[in-house]
Amino acid sequence: MIVIDGKKISQQIKSEVKAAAEKLQRERGITPGLAFILVGDNPASQSYVKSKGKACEELGFYSVTERVPATIAEGELLAIVERFNHDPNIHGILVQLPLPKHINEEKVIEAISSAKDVDGFHPVNVGKLMIGLDTFYPCTPYGIVELLKRYHINPAGKHVVVVGRSNIVGKPIANMLLQKKEWANAIVTVAHTAAKDLSYYTKQADILIAAVGKPKAITKEMVKPGVVVIDVGINRVDDPTSNTGTRLVGDVDFDNVKDIASAITPVPGGVGPMTIAMLMVNTLKAAGGTI
Ligand code: NAP
Repeated sequence: MIVIDGKKISQQIKSEVKAAAEKLQRERGITPGLAFILVGDNPASQSYVKSKGKACEELGFYSVTERVPATIAEGELLAIVERFNHDPNIHGILVQLPLPKHINEEKVIEAISSAKDVDGFHPVNVGKLMIGLDTFYPCTPYGIVELLKRYHINPAGKHVVVVGRSNIVGKPIANMLLQKKEWANAIVTVAHTAAKDLSYYTKQADILIAAVGKPKAITKEMVKPGVVVIDVGINRVDDPTSNTGTRLVGDVDFDNVKDIASAITPVPGGVGPMTIAMLMVNTLKAAGGTI
């Protein structure tokens, strides 16, 4: 059984991005630039933006964080996006979600230039992904594909079962693995809350991708021997034995499923670290570089 080490792979990717960014700077005088827009003071959003900013620093990217109050008017936020759309030093724009209720998230995402949409959430890029064109792939699904690739787990011809159909994980990963392309070409099933017997689907998986948002949603009784398990979930649960009183777990009952699986991602240290690494890949790409 292989424990898929997302931390190690994400570090490899970041060092490749760093080298490519240095080359871009040397040969074309371009420094990849990423703008973060942080609305309000949600602690999780603050911490995500901080980690992403730190990654920019590590890789020699230029980054700027625009912090605005939660009371900002939608029009003002759209004006900030528009300013970054026209800023030649900025190649990627990331509006940290979620946004306050009075702001229309779709409208803000659509306002980002699709050429600077390093999150891969713009409808133009979602459409391109769907029909198999090159685009900015959303960072978490992109990270999953990269993990499979770097562990030589080829999804071609395999039955991939995705549990969850969110726009940021479930739908894009299902669509990416469905494409008639290298490191895709899978037979894909997407399950969700309408499934009467979830295990009927999960038991068929050669590769099971759990993006549910519920601790232990996938137990050992729900998988077949030899399955490859990709656990996207990040759930905070009580843990009196830890200093903070809580700990992070995935959507999969790791301790029991690992004995049956042929490969499995841990939480933390699996898919999580890949998300930021792929954001850096997307920003490099937006600036004209590649790894
Ligand atoms: P989400 O928007 O809440 O979607 C969850 C999906 O799971 C929904 O499609 C839901 O079905 C389905 N679901 C929930 N309970 C189910 C059940 N009992 N049986 C079958 N399907 C069920 O979540 P998300 O944004 O995709 O995130 C999923 C998890 O991944 C969360 O823990 C999140 O924190 C984590 N995440 C991690 C990263 C990372 O960087 N590693 C990035 C993004 C998200 P319905 O559509 O029918 O409601």
